[in-house]
Amino acid sequence: MATAWFGPCPHCKIALSYLQGVTGSTMTPVCPECRKPVTVSRATLLMADHSRPSTAWKSGDTQR
Ligand SMILES: [Zn+2]
Repeated sequence: MATAWFGPCPHCKIALSYLQGVTGSTMTPVCPECRKPVTVSRATLLMADHSRPSTAWKSGDTQR
């Protein structure tokens, strides 16, 4: 069964989608942003979640 939840990367804190049990999931997923391995308890596919505000604001605010 596929399960999805959302959380920050433990390394760079960007918003990630954790997709468990989907095609391409692995026990050793890497963050798409910082490319560091993320520890998971189930096979997981990591995707950057640009639709949600990150918990760590980056300096690149292009609206100002
Ligand atoms: Zn990261």
